[in-house]
Amino acid sequence: MESFIKNKARELGFAACGIAKAEAVDAVTQAAYERWIEENHQGDMGYLARNLEKRFDPTQLVPGCKSIIVTAMNYYPAEQIPKEEWQIAYYAYGKDYHVVVKERLFQLLEYINNLREQHGEHAPFGEQRVFVDSAPVLERYWAQRAGLGWEGRNHLLIIPGMGSWFFLGLIVTDLALTPDSPLPSRCGTCHRCVDACPAGALTLHADGTTSMDARRCISYLTIEQKSPIPSDFSAHLGNHIYGCDCCQKACPWNRFASPTNENSFQPSDALLNMRREDWKTLTPEEYEGLFSGSAVKRAKYDGLRRNIETVAQSEKKD
Ligand code: SF4
Ligand code: SF4
Repeated sequence: MESFIKNKARELGFAACGIAKAEAVDAVTQAAYERWIEENHQGDMGYLARNLEKRFDPTQLVPGCKSIIVTAMNYYPAEQIPKEEWQIAYYAYGKDYHVVVKERLFQLLEYINNLREQHGEHAPFGEQRVFVDSAPVLERYWAQRAGLGWEGRNHLLIIPGMGSWFFLGLIVTDLALTPDSPLPSRCGTCHRCVDACPAGALTLHADGTTSMDARRCISYLTIEQKSPIPSDFSAHLGNHIYGCDCCQKACPWNRFASPTNENSFQPSDALLNMRREDWKTLTPEEYEGLFSGSAVKRAKYDGLRRNIETVAQSEKKD
């Protein structure tokens, strides 16, 4: 059953697929997460501090679950906005990943259910759920447990030989599948991501771990934070008007990245051709045209305008 699921995942366009046993997350991970919340490093993302019992134990989230199938889908774009222009994070170049990945996971789940029928099980099966960044689940932890890669010092999942430009998706199921072996970290003595962070959001500790203060992170400031960007931080934005990829671009594992085959994640010519003057005069209609069905809609027109004005002001001061 396991190899059929993984082969089907690849056929559906996932670059990697692994299986973890559904059980409470380990004590070290729980303690680190609790410390992160105590220090209020999640900022305004209050949902990250809620439902901890579910976040720390998937069996509380999906009663009766026994396994977590973890998938990764490549979003590394074949073409990129020129470096000297204002930047949008790669993950937001194309269609909203929540929709694209979820649709593909439902196809995988349908395939699994058909397999179960063929093996003499009969629907309805126990509760099975599909998650794409949409529930209190520690996705990167489960990806590591499922043998896909490890959580780097930039707090992203790194897949050996592939890099970190991946969307993670989970199927939590009542099927008892044979789990894969977790991979150890291969960050070694590297801390390039910490050094590359323009906002000082990553702190390297003596034991080699890092903590991430979301309140300083450009991704948080330009996407999640709804209030004006504090003047102390606006200079850190540089030319980032939506999200930031600096800690991924700096990672040596991303030299293995290859462009995605997913058309949904490729940028439109209109986006690639946007220049500073176009951004500065962006109208709501143009915004709709550029970002219809995109994850950028999360920041809404007013949010993107706020970012554009903040970056424009900072550049004027330089
Ligand atoms: S996304 Fe950018 S600002 Fe946030 S931690 Fe990474 S490098 Fe720093
Ligand atoms: S830049 Fe270095 S330390 Fe950071 S995630 Fe990549 S390998 Fe790990």
